[in-house]
Amino acid sequence: MTAPKSGPRIKIDGAGLQRRIDELALISENPAPVVTRVLFSEADLRGREYVRRAAREAGLALREDAVGNIFARWHGREPNLPAVGSGSHTDAIPNAGRFDGVVGVLGAFEALAALKRSGFSPRRSLEVVMFTAEEPTRFGLGCLGSRLMGGTIPVARAQALRDREGRGLDELRAAAGYSGSLNSVKLPKGHYHSFVELHIEQGPILEKKKIPIGIVEHIAGPSSYRVTLHGEGGHAGAVLMPKRHDAMLAGAEIALAVERAAKNSGSRDTVGTVGVFRIEPGACNSVPFKAYLEIDLRDSRLDTRAKALAEIRSAARKACVKRGVKMEFEEINADPPADGDPKAVAIVEKVCRELGLRSMRMVSRAYHDSLFMARVSPTTMIFIPCRNGWSHRPEEFATTRHIVAGAEVLAHTMARLAD
Ligand SMILES: [Zn+2]
Repeated sequence: MTAPKSGPRIKIDGAGLQRRIDELALISENPAPVVTRVLFSEADLRGREYVRRAAREAGLALREDAVGNIFARWHGREPNLPAVGSGSHTDAIPNAGRFDGVVGVLGAFEALAALKRSGFSPRRSLEVVMFTAEEPTRFGLGCLGSRLMGGTIPVARAQALRDREGRGLDELRAAAGYSGSLNSVKLPKGHYHSFVELHIEQGPILEKKKIPIGIVEHIAGPSSYRVTLHGEGGHAGAVLMPKRHDAMLAGAEIALAVERAAKNSGSRDTVGTVGVFRIEPGACNSVPFKAYLEIDLRDSRLDTRAKALAEIRSAARKACVKRGVKMEFEEINADPPADGDPKAVAIVEKVCRELGLRSMRMVSRAYHDSLFMARVSPTTMIFIPCRNGWSHRPEEFATTRHIVAGAEVLAHTMARLAD
């Protein structure tokens, strides 16, 4: 391991960190190598117990809030100063892998443990968060814990969330042992001095370029929309073409408009996807009378995303007028993008240089809890390569060497931010 020019000599316990990642992966709703830990499932609860134990082993003080965010703190010499935060999530979508989120939680524990072993004494407190429900599996809304911490979702909206079985957040969190008002989850102003999340890239760029560390300068803002189209059904043989009001064809025009608008937005980060497209009645010999689409539109810039959305809406309206189809176009969710804090980005870059690790600045195209932490604290993210850019599947893989490099950069970065 290379030593930095300044600061503590940090030795990450790579074997121990890898062992913990492998142990947590065995806590799953499905047999290995598949990892599934849906919010407040039995596996999620056992995963939380594992996280608490790992935090205690790292010598950190535990606290949990009313929605189940877990905080593990190393009290600094001046504990009243805003803390330096890190962390990620350990929930996993069905059929996922072992590294997404987990590297950022267990890696941050190890970063702090290594700093402790080095004899470092932080001025500010250092705190690791395991965020509740980064994945949207249960409620259809991701980053529930960090949204509530940042106050970016009204508590009433969180309470109105229902899972597929109709169970609400209050019922489920109570069953998981979390009581207290959700109003108390919002962090007081200035809780964090800065926040740095370690995560696998979930894309192919670092691996392809053989660069071990990515530093996030922008996080793309996700938005999604629901389009319901009401046409007129009929017999596929009997209704002649000029008389048709085919809901599916209006939907097809909208899907193509999404692609066109994303390509022509003026930002190379605009991406548009129609991932859900259902038609009724869904019979070969029947004109579709109804179509239902869900559009996902993301960008690192708000202006170009808004331009793309305006084009999609206008093209959708035209297609529906032309075809005599009625349309409902609703926003499901729209989060603005976030920028990495320039000072934090520069510190991570300097740490990498001093450790002799190549790094590059990047855009996070997936969203993370950091998108919401960026609203309440200067924030950046440290990315490490993952094989073929794979994630959200059991083949997800990152090497121990890269995980150790990420944890080492995180440790040095947090040490500098804490002084
Ligand atoms: Zn993640």
